[in-house]
Amino acid sequence: MSGNIIRTENLTKKYNGRIAVDQINLHVPKGKIYALLGRNGAGKTTAMKMLLNLVRPSDGKIFLFDEEISGYGKRNSFRIGSIIEAPAFYENLTAGENLEILARLRGRHRKDTVDRALGAVHLDKEHKKLFREYSLGMKQRLGLAAAIMHEPELLILDEPMNGLDPIGICETRNYLLQLCREKGTTIFISSHVLDEISQLADVIGIINKGKLLEETDLQELYRRRRRYAEFEVSDVNKAALVLENRFGILDYEVTGPNSLRLYEKIDSRGDINSSFVKEGIAVAKINVEKGKLEDYFTGLVGGDRDV
Ligand code: ATP
Repeated sequence: MSGNIIRTENLTKKYNGRIAVDQINLHVPKGKIYALLGRNGAGKTTAMKMLLNLVRPSDGKIFLFDEEISGYGKRNSFRIGSIIEAPAFYENLTAGENLEILARLRGRHRKDTVDRALGAVHLDKEHKKLFREYSLGMKQRLGLAAAIMHEPELLILDEPMNGLDPIGICETRNYLLQLCREKGTTIFISSHVLDEISQLADVIGIINKGKLLEETDLQELYRRRRRYAEFEVSDVNKAALVLENRFGILDYEVTGPNSLRLYEKIDSRGDINSSFVKEGIAVAKINVEKGKLEDYFTGLVGGDRDV
């Protein structure tokens, strides 16, 4: 046993010759939450569909539960719960009736299976409403209820927070954390919103234009953020000249009318401070901080939107 519930080797998908997923090597550890993070069109859904045998890979291998698959049969489908794109339900049936049908199809259910699943996603009070009367957020919750109902070992969730309000996002996050920590469920989740998963994931895979750029422990990413010293000064232009001419510092940025951030020679901040004062630049504050996780991601995938 490798310890990875999902593993892929050079997994690739081309649609009409255009690459959507490009030789990715995923390692999703057992009992952890793994978030696949990427902008719209990065290849997240396609990767998940290949794992779920909804799309045939163009190349590469998939191992689920340590076994190579070329399409999974009933045995694995009991072990996996998923949300992929908009979950499909009968419009004219209630949430409870929809889940009841699914539970029967899956064949393994106890009397309280449906009620427990609805309760877990806080839909128990809405179970009499028809599916077509549900809001987008309620539909997403019902999708999650359907995915977790048979208590699978592995959850594959494609953007499960889409359409949820902030409370819904928080509840879903707490529920997934609880499933993972208490039941040991392995969760493979995709998102294009860093904030959604930065308080949830143990491991993050960053995908961009079909390529897996990084696969790292979230804690390690937090450690890697860039350190900087921020000076609050009376004259930023004069201060910038001192940084460049006296200290040879070029890796800095002006972050406000009275503030600038330097990313190099942070440990010389005492000397820099003295030089500023000598040049008649008043220094109100010096803070040493670490950059935001967002900056790390945008540095990797480029641009400033989405993640
Ligand atoms: P989003 O967050 O917008 O859902 P994603 O990261 O899930 O994006 P995919 O849906 O996997 O990305 O799409 C990856 C690329 O593959 C995109 O360029 C998309 O246009 C293309 N693609 C996806 N499905 C198909 C398809 N059935 N036929 C042709 N191209 C497709």
